[in-house]
Amino acid sequence: MTRKVYRFGGGVADGDATMKDLLGGKGANLAEMSAAGLPVPPGFTISTEVCREVLTHGGITEQGAGKSARLPDALWKEVDAALAEVERLMDARFGDAERPLLISVRSGAAVSMPGMMDTVLNLGMSDEVAAGLAKLTQSDRFAWDAYRRFLEMFANVVMGISRAPFEHAMDLLKHERAARSDRDLGADDLRELVTRFKAVYQKETGHSFPTDPREQLERAIIAVFSSWNSDRAVKYREFQKIRGLIGTAVSVQAMVFGNMGESSGTGVCFTRNPANGDKELYGEYLIDAQGEDVVAGTRTPEPISTLKDRMPEIYEQLAALTENLERHFRNVQDIEFTVQQGKLFILQTRHGKRTGRAAVKIAVDMVAEGRVSKDEAILNLVEPAHLDQLLHPHFADEAGYRRDNRVLAKGLAASPGAGVGTLVFHADDAEAARARGEKVILARVETSPEDVAGMHAAEGILTSRGGMTSHAAVVARGWGKPCVAGCHDIVIDYANKTLSNGKVTLHEGDWMSLNGTTGELISGAERLTDALVSDDFQVFMGWVDQVRTLRVRTNADTPRDAGVARAFGAEGIGLCRTEHMFFQEDRILAMRQMILSDDERGRRKALALLLPYQRDDFAAIFRIMEGLPVTIRLLDPPLHEFLPHEPRQQEDVAKAMQMSVERLRSRITLMHESNPMLGHRGCRLGITHAEITEMQARAILEAACIVKKEGKTVMPEIMVPLVGIVAELTHQKNVVDRVAKEVFAEQGIVVEYLVGTMIEVPRAALAAESIAEEAQFFSFGTNDLTQLTLGFSRDDVGSFLPKYIAAGIYADDPFKTLDIAGVGQLVKLAKDRGRARRPSLKVGICGEHGGDPRSIAFCAEIGLDYVSCSPFRVPIARLAAGQAALKSRGIREKSGEA
Ligand code: PEP
Ligand code: MG
Repeated sequence: MTRKVYRFGGGVADGDATMKDLLGGKGANLAEMSAAGLPVPPGFTISTEVCREVLTHGGITEQGAGKSARLPDALWKEVDAALAEVERLMDARFGDAERPLLISVRSGAAVSMPGMMDTVLNLGMSDEVAAGLAKLTQSDRFAWDAYRRFLEMFANVVMGISRAPFEHAMDLLKHERAARSDRDLGADDLRELVTRFKAVYQKETGHSFPTDPREQLERAIIAVFSSWNSDRAVKYREFQKIRGLIGTAVSVQAMVFGNMGESSGTGVCFTRNPANGDKELYGEYLIDAQGEDVVAGTRTPEPISTLKDRMPEIYEQLAALTENLERHFRNVQDIEFTVQQGKLFILQTRHGKRTGRAAVKIAVDMVAEGRVSKDEAILNLVEPAHLDQLLHPHFADEAGYRRDNRVLAKGLAASPGAGVGTLVFHADDAEAARARGEKVILARVETSPEDVAGMHAAEGILTSRGGMTSHAAVVARGWGKPCVAGCHDIVIDYANKTLSNGKVTLHEGDWMSLNGTTGELISGAERLTDALVSDDFQVFMGWVDQVRTLRVRTNADTPRDAGVARAFGAEGIGLCRTEHMFFQEDRILAMRQMILSDDERGRRKALALLLPYQRDDFAAIFRIMEGLPVTIRLLDPPLHEFLPHEPRQQEDVAKAMQMSVERLRSRITLMHESNPMLGHRGCRLGITHAEITEMQARAILEAACIVKKEGKTVMPEIMVPLVGIVAELTHQKNVVDRVAKEVFAEQGIVVEYLVGTMIEVPRAALAAESIAEEAQFFSFGTNDLTQLTLGFSRDDVGSFLPKYIAAGIYADDPFKTLDIAGVGQLVKLAKDRGRARRPSLKVGICGEHGGDPRSIAFCAEIGLDYVSCSPFRVPIARLAAGQAALKSRGIREKSGEA
C-alpha cells in the first residue's frame, strides 16, 4: 500500500517541492521549506490520491460533508502516527488541557485556487482545552476568542451552516455590551459568546458540538476533500482551465497564533512589489490578529514597511528568510507569516501572482541580478497573459476627469488597467448583463469565492473593504482585470443598489469608470486608449525573439493597424482582409454599384472607381511593412454583406445607378442566400466575377511597383480564399499572372510576388498535395476550417457551445483554442502533404488561433513557418513561440504554485 500521509517539520520532510500532484502545491512547498530548515510549524499532508479514493469510493459527496461519512481505518493509522510526531515537535498534545495542541486543516491542489476550497483553523478545541490555553498563554481573552472563531468556522465550513446566525449572536452581544468592535469584547464576553455559539450550533444541526478532537479532525478532513467538488471550486477550475487534477490534498499543521497580544501578529508579504515589480519587501500585516483577518479584509492591515519600527528583529529575520526563499525558488514568493509572542513562523510560500508590468520588470531585474537565466525568465517569470494585461488600455485623459472633479473616491490600486461599464451590485447581475453583451463594473462591499463568475464577467471590480491581498484583489490581479479594493470613502448599499461618497450617489445602471492603476473611481464613461510599452518590455521581448524560431506576423487591414503591429514586433502581414477597405463612406457606394450592376460593363465601371482607393491603401501598407512580406487576400465575404438595407441607403444607390428603388430592392432580394457561409463567397466570387480579381490584382501590383520605385523592398503575397480544389486556384492564379504581366509592362518595372491560398475548406487540406502544385504558400484559415470541420456555424455557436464546454464535451472553445485532435490534425496533414509536393512551401496560420498561446505552441511543434494574429496579440504570440522553442529544447518549466 502506498503512503497516504507525508510528514513535515523539525527540519525534515517525507516529501519535496516536486510532489505537487500528490501533496498539492501547499503540501509540497511545506515539505520543501521544512527540509530547507525554515521555521515552518510541523504537520503532515494527506495526499490527493486519498482525496480521489474517498470521493469516488468512500461514499463522500459534497452533501456528505458534516454528516455520517467516515475515513478509512488505514488512513487513521497513518494520521495518528503523524499527529504523534507533531505533538512531540510542538511539545503539546491534541485535546490536552495542560499543553494543548491546536491544528489547522487546509486544502491544497496542485494548482493554486485561492480561497476556493475549505480551511478550518484552531481545530482541537473544547471547553477544557480553551481553559488550558488561557492558562498557558495567560490570556483568557485569546483562548475564548480562538474558541469562538473555531466554533463558527467549524459550523460553517464543516457543517455547512450559514455564518449569519453566528454574526447575529455576535452583534447582539456587542449591542448588549455597548461594544463598538470585536476587540472591545472582554474574555468573559467571549466565553459567553462561546456558550451562545454552541446553542446556535445545536439549534442548526440538531446535535451538540463535538468536543472530541479526533471527531473534529475527521469531519474537517472530509469537509476539505468534499470542497473539491463545491460549485465555486468547479466554476473556478472551469474559468482557469484547470484540468487533469485528481483532487485536493489536505495539509494538517500545528497552529501558531498571531493573536496572542502586542508581540504577535500575522501578515502576507511578497519578495517584490507585485503591482509594479520594484525590488522591495511588499505586503501587509496586522498586530494581534489571525491570518484570516488579513485575507478576509475585515480589518485594514498596515504596510509591511512599518514592521521595521514595530518589530525590528522580526523584520530583519523576515527579510533574510524571504530573500533566501526567492533565491531558492528562483521566482518571486508570496509568503504568509505569523509571529507568535516574538517568534517568527513561515506558514506558506508560493510563486507570487503579479501584474503584467511587474512580471516583465521582475524578469529583467532577476536576470540582471544573476538570479535566473534568460531562458528561465522567458519560461517561468512571464506568461503570455501578462503581456495581454500589459498591453491593456488606459484612460485617454486622466487629467481631464480629475480637472472636472469626477473622481468619486480613491481606494487601493489593487489590479491595474482601466474598466468602463454600468454599475451592478451583484455577481449574478454582472453575469446576466455580460450575457446580454453589456459591460459592467461590479461593486461589492467585499467579494467572496461565490462571486467569481460575476467578477469574471465584469470589466472591473470595486470593493469598499479589504486590502491588497483580499479576495477581490488577488483574483482580479490573476485575471488582469482592473480592481480598486478597500475604497472606504464610499458606502455601498445593496438594498437600494446605490454607491455614494456622501455627496454623489450612483445607482445601478449608471456609467462609471475604474482606474485600477491609480485606485480612482470616476463617474461617467471614460475614453480608453492604448497601453504603454516600457524599456523592460523591449529588452525582454528581445530575448524572446532570440530563442524563438516560429515567425509572428499580423492580421492588419489598415495602414494604422499595420503600424501598430510593426511597433509590437510583427514580421510581416499574414492576412490583410481587403473587404474591410470597402466599408468606408467614400467607397461603399461604388462597391454597391459594382455588386448591383446588371452586367460586366457596369461592374467594371464601378471597379474602376474602387481601384485608386485600394492602390493607395496597399501602397501605404507596403511602405509601413517595408522589407517584410505582406499577404493580401482577395475579396472573401458574400457580396450581400455589402448591400444597403436601410431605405435611405437604397435610395442613394438607386439614384447613383439611375435605377428605380423597386428594381434595386428586387435585385437585393434575388441575392439572398440561405447559407451565406457556404454560398457565393471566397474564390467563388473571383471565379464568377473575374473582373473583381483583376481589379484587386492590379491595385496590389501597381502599388507594389510604385513603392518599389521609391526604393523600398516590397514583398507582396496574393492569397486566394476558400479554395477547395486546385482548379479554383489555377483559375485565379491565371488571372493574377495575366494582370501582373500587363502592370509590369505598363510600369516598366518588375516586382517579385507570390500567389498562394488559404486552407480553410477540409477538402483543400486533404488535397494539399495537388494544391501545392499551384500554391507558393498555404495560410490556414482556421476560423473557417474549424467551422467546416466541426460543422459548427461561426455565427451560431453561442446558443450551444457554452453548454458543450460546461458539460466538458469540448474542453475549450474550438474557435479560440485550436481543436488539436481534429482541426489540428488536418493542419498537420495538409502541411506535410503540401511540403512533400513543394519543399519550399511557406506555411502559416491566420485564423484567430494564431494569437492563442496553446494553439501557437502546437503550430511551433508541427513546424509551421509563422502565425499571424491581431496587432495587440503580437507580443503574446512572440512569447508563446519563444516558450514553445525552449520547451522543445527540453528546458523545463518550473511551476511553484502552492
Ligand atoms: C479564417 O477563416 O480563419 C480566416 C482567417 O478568414 P476569415 O475569418 O476572414 O473568414
Ligand atoms: Mg475564412
